[in-house]
Amino acid sequence: MTKIGLEIHCQLTKLESKLFCSCKANYREFEPNHNVCPVCMGLPGSLPRLNQKAVESATSIAMALNCATPEKIAFFRKNYFYPDLPKNFQITQLNVYGDMSVGGEGYVDVEGKKIKIRRIQLEEDPGRLIYEGTSDRTKITLVDYNRAGTPLVEIVTDPDFENPRQVRVFLNILSDLLENLGVAEPGLEGAMRADGNVSIEGGNKVEIKNIGSFHDLEKALHFELTRQQSLHERDIEIAMETRHWDDRRKITISSRSKEEDQDYRYFLENDIPWVKIDQETRDVLKKNMPESISSKKERYVEKYDIAPQVADILSSDRYYSDLFENAHNESNAKDIANLITTDLLGFIDTREKRETSKVTPQHLADLVNAVNAKTLTRNSSKIALQEIVKSGKSVKELLDEMDLGQVSDSSEIDNIISQIFEEEKQAVQDAKERPETVNFLVGKVMQKTKGKADPAKTLELIKSKLGQ
Ligand SMILES: [Zn+2]
Repeated sequence: MTKIGLEIHCQLTKLESKLFCSCKANYREFEPNHNVCPVCMGLPGSLPRLNQKAVESATSIAMALNCATPEKIAFFRKNYFYPDLPKNFQITQLNVYGDMSVGGEGYVDVEGKKIKIRRIQLEEDPGRLIYEGTSDRTKITLVDYNRAGTPLVEIVTDPDFENPRQVRVFLNILSDLLENLGVAEPGLEGAMRADGNVSIEGGNKVEIKNIGSFHDLEKALHFELTRQQSLHERDIEIAMETRHWDDRRKITISSRSKEEDQDYRYFLENDIPWVKIDQETRDVLKKNMPESISSKKERYVEKYDIAPQVADILSSDRYYSDLFENAHNESNAKDIANLITTDLLGFIDTREKRETSKVTPQHLADLVNAVNAKTLTRNSSKIALQEIVKSGKSVKELLDEMDLGQVSDSSEIDNIISQIFEEEKQAVQDAKERPETVNFLVGKVMQKTKGKADPAKTLELIKSKLGQ
């Protein structure tokens, strides 16, 4: 039987500062090695100070993943020499001597199957190594410590996945959940990385290290399963090893033999005292947690009669649900939900577009109200929304500027219908014989008025002209 387990590393990107110093958690905006201090550089005599907010964020993640959260947590030194780690050890957590990390056993429901979470720990991210040069003589490795010390949460699952597809579904659920908690931005480059453990019936476990995108992880797992099955069929033993994903060649490559925990010579980090997380603190954290995605979805469907697939899109994305929550009232909720999921979604389909979008909840409410008051057609509201995303102008300004106001005046529409009846004699004849073809004529009127004619009134007037 195929067994896949995951180790997911997720940066707490919503925090202000690093895990043990006051350097910025958002290292991405700095020139290399400009977001560092004696603490994250591990200079002699410097002492770490724990970021309390990081402990709270990590505990919230543990709670959201149904994990046990202990009364006291401790930190350990994981000793190894590698240039991305200036201290020569990483401050992390360990559960060998009892449950001392932020989260113990928990689970996530994936399509009716319980995927067990083994533990959740809080640790510091190492620096980044950048490889440059092409030929052997010019190859160099650069190191950037801006990232060193960034708060990182490691989530370890049991090997409960039976195939790569389940892994993908789980990761989608997890990243929505982290985003909803407001602690991380899984879409940011490098903010979420994963290792996968893969084994097939009777074979050794192989670890695939440090894959930067979920898409690549799925491909790497597929490749690795095929490789192991082919070895197994030829009676060749599958070596227990660590492999790397080469995303250029789309294969996994053997990299080094796997270290055991004992190789790291873990010991207690005595520079950081044990942290007590008492029941009261945990109760407050639980109380302050945002509503879960599933409860939001249920509420949208039940309270506002929003279609389940629309409620699904709205609830699983914090950005859209925040817009919805701040724009709707009892009477227009369904229209706001549809406006977001049919029109807005298409206009801000990338991270950049979303970040630069000028649309506010007020805009959405104004658009829906204008459509309902028949001062704007559905079609014109879409044109207006596209403009709002770019300029942030108010709906009123756009109605004046862009000549988008709905045409409801009967004589004005009637004039246009007369013109169309002249131009489309065959279609008029068809509509007389087969009333179901009348929409062609309605469409022509809409075209001529750039979508501004009141559709219901247009249909009524055409029918009466046809004698129907
Ligand atoms: Zn620092």
